[in-house]
Amino acid sequence: MKNNDQSRVFDLTDYKRQDFSVCLGCKICASVCTVNDLSENTNPQDILQKLFLGKDIPADEPLVRYCTGCYRCTGACPWNIRIPEVIRALREELAIESPFEKAFKGSLSIWGRVYEPYVLLMAIPFLLKGGYMKHMTRWMEYMGIHLPHKVKRA
Ligand code: SF4
Ligand code: SF4
Repeated sequence: MKNNDQSRVFDLTDYKRQDFSVCLGCKICASVCTVNDLSENTNPQDILQKLFLGKDIPADEPLVRYCTGCYRCTGACPWNIRIPEVIRALREELAIESPFEKAFKGSLSIWGRVYEPYVLLMAIPFLLKGGYMKHMTRWMEYMGIHLPHKVKRA
């Protein structure tokens, strides 16, 4: 994305370029990022820094492609920066739709709400292709789906 296109990102998110100057560079966002659990080695702070400095953000940046919109970064950030909204605006600008986003939209159009098992089902081809199924147990914990386990009696 060229610098002069970034105005759309600020329009869509209601952030101004200078708002990102508060970012402390602490990388707490990176430490909790769901995409990093897929071993993609991403750093949300890097995207904010590039926007702040007006640097190009490539369309193949893993976070732009795979951000799940889980808001873990926002919850952990000392400034509660709405990183997934920034990433959604970047996708809008770059006309990119992640497999998860497609699945979310499909679920909304059918049930009017996000139905997690459907999202998971629709994402399976992508997960298989990328070799991400090994992380399934952890994702189920994120989604609040817990496998039955034996209760130890006293
Ligand atoms: S919303 Fe996106 S950038 Fe933030 S923690 Fe989740 S996957 Fe990472
Ligand atoms: S957690 Fe917030 S302040 Fe820290 S690096 Fe990430 S975006 Fe910046």
